[in-house]
Amino acid sequence: MSDYYKRLGSHICSKCGKEYKWVQSLVRHEREECGKDPQYSCSACGVKIRHKWLLKKHMINVHHLVLPNGKNFWNNNQDLQ
Ligand SMILES: [Zn+2]
Ligand SMILES: [Zn+2]
Repeated sequence: MSDYYKRLGSHICSKCGKEYKWVQSLVRHEREECGKDPQYSCSACGVKIRHKWLLKKHMINVHHLVLPNGKNFWNNNQDLQ
């Protein structure tokens, strides 16, 4: 308990073992993503992706996709019609 909050790079999720530099990140991880399935999937290659911004990054980095309007592409299999 003592210096738990002061140390960097040693905040480890007790459920999945993921390591975080910041305790805030670990708290967010435990609250929002640990044990949950990724909500997004790439419509080009089908890979499951946890965050929308990661999907966007994936599209750009992996598929070299840059959209002129930057809209609507990643909403294909979402419910934002
Ligand atoms: Zn975890
Ligand atoms: Zn992909």
